Amino acid sequence: MNAQIERAVEHFRALLEEQLGRAERMENASAQEKTANPKTVVGVVGGDGIGPIIVNEAARVLEALLADEIARGTLELRPIDGLTIENRLARGEAVPAEVLAAIKGCDVLLKGPTTTPKGGTLESANVALRRALDLYANVRPVRIPEEGVDWTFFRENTEGEYALGSRGVELPGLAMDFKVITDAGTRRIARAAFEFARKNGKKNVAIVTKANIMKKTDGKFSAICHEVAKDYPEMEVEDWYIDIMTANLVNPAIRSRFEVFILPNLYGDIITDEAAQLQGGVGTAGSANLGDRYAMFEAVHGTAPRMIEEGLGDYANPESILRAAQLMLNHIGRAEAAAKLGKALEICCETEKKVAVTGDRSGATCREFGDYLLKTLQTLS
Ligand code: NAD
Repeated sequence: MNAQIERAVEHFRALLEEQLGRAERMENASAQEKTANPKTVVGVVGGDGIGPIIVNEAARVLEALLADEIARGTLELRPIDGLTIENRLARGEAVPAEVLAAIKGCDVLLKGPTTTPKGGTLESANVALRRALDLYANVRPVRIPEEGVDWTFFRENTEGEYALGSRGVELPGLAMDFKVITDAGTRRIARAAFEFARKNGKKNVAIVTKANIMKKTDGKFSAICHEVAKDYPEMEVEDWYIDIMTANLVNPAIRSRFEVFILPNLYGDIITDEAAQLQGGVGTAGSANLGDRYAMFEAVHGTAPRMIEEGLGDYANPESILRAAQLMLNHIGRAEAAAKLGKALEICCETEKKVAVTGDRSGATCREFGDYLLKTLQTLS
């Protein structure tokens, strides 16, 4: 046992050194300037399971919305192959090197969900991409207009429980994982959230942790967020624990008072799915992963393996990936196209609802919904 403890201590030392190095690089990094590129390249990644089916519909919609720009050559929709579970397993790489190189040749990505096997050592493609592209802010808007709910979640995307999630230690009868919070990593997510709040006229920012239990890591996260908050004196800044905040979101008496949330990685992962469900299901929300150089836009849900097993893949709902496409259009400065897509989604999913996708044979297929949305777009000037 002693030898095993020694090995674990050595492993821990190596992790500490590596993470200190990462923190130092973040401290020293000035925000990377985007080089002005005459052409915006949007990488389109299908992913696994229902991914290629829903991404295909989103690509059809983007082709229609951006037809003029594509024809002029100022924007390219570039399919990127190889981010499949088969290829990733065969290569033993979360994101195979040539796929990552292709992705780095794009400005932004529209990505379908990817499978993460339980157990084993293959890391989640998303976690690897967030790290490789330094996508530190996971931003998810959630709206329930009839209740006045308009939330924006800023989930820290590169640290917390996910930084070393595949590199814990296991001794006979015991397993330990590690959670990492850095000053620099927290500062940049807090800055992104407060800047968003200021630019969008928001007044309330909730810092959500479990700092009463995770005293070192969540304690630091909260303290650094408060430090950043000093630059935004107009904001009402509140500390909440994740457990009570999870309850708050299902409490109609108070939930509309919240506006912007800042959370460490794991709590953000969980609570944003809860929030999406309140809006109408994980199929109805999109998500943005933002860094200083790259950005990636995704559906909130996963690959829906059971739908594929049951032969229901064609009945997958593309709404979530279309909402992600809308976020992407805004991010790359195509506000008009984003607004048009938003309007068409409102008509197709909220008001007119002539074609409803239910996720099974009782509803429309993904393609039928895509056709409906494309027709609706044509009616909008
Ligand atoms: P899931 O989101 O795939 O499925 C949860 C439930 O929602 C299932 O009942 C599914 O049928 C349904 N569902 C999901 N998307 C739907 C859609 N577009 N239309 C209709 N119904 C839909 O979650 P899971 O089962 O926990 O995960 C499955 C796989 O997806 C896992 O390998 C997981 O790692 C992966 N995953 C990937 C991402 C990502 O790449 N961003 C996110 C979450 C999960």
